[in-house]
Amino acid sequence: MLTTLILWMAIALPVAVAMEWWARLMHDRAWHGFLWVFHRSHHRPSGPIELNDVFPVLHAPLAAGLMIQRAWFEGALLSEVLFGVGLGATLFGVAYTIVHDGYIHGRLPVSFLGRFAYMRSLRDAHGLHHKHGREPYGLFLGEREVLAARRRGVLPPG
Ligand SMILES: [Zn+2]
Ligand SMILES: [Zn+2]
Repeated sequence: MLTTLILWMAIALPVAVAMEWWARLMHDRAWHGFLWVFHRSHHRPSGPIELNDVFPVLHAPLAAGLMIQRAWFEGALLSEVLFGVGLGATLFGVAYTIVHDGYIHGRLPVSFLGRFAYMRSLRDAHGLHHKHGREPYGLFLGEREVLAARRRGVLPPG
């Protein structure tokens, strides 16, 4: 039992961190590319629901499926590994929803997060994405992405 828990955590935590790069890649190449028809709604004033909300609605069942399969295959190594992957993706998804949708865009009552300087730095960096439609495409390492983009000259100096 404890070894299973350790295995899940050993997989889920790096997966949750790696999701930042995955989300950044998807946001840059897909959402601002061929999926712009959906993502555009997030870059325009809109009501309580955006067409862009299809992304979490489509992603959540993938992560849930990776965990639910364990109901049939519990104990098999591959099953436990896939559970850890699903858990990590879910942790990232929950954190992204709370910070991006909830705090930065005010869609959840979590304004208390603004007490943390790190959260305010994420909000400011993400504000640049909305202003310029450029970097940062990621969220949790947004400030680093902004600095790198400024060095490359693709964002105006701050
Ligand atoms: Zn946003
Ligand atoms: Zn965007």
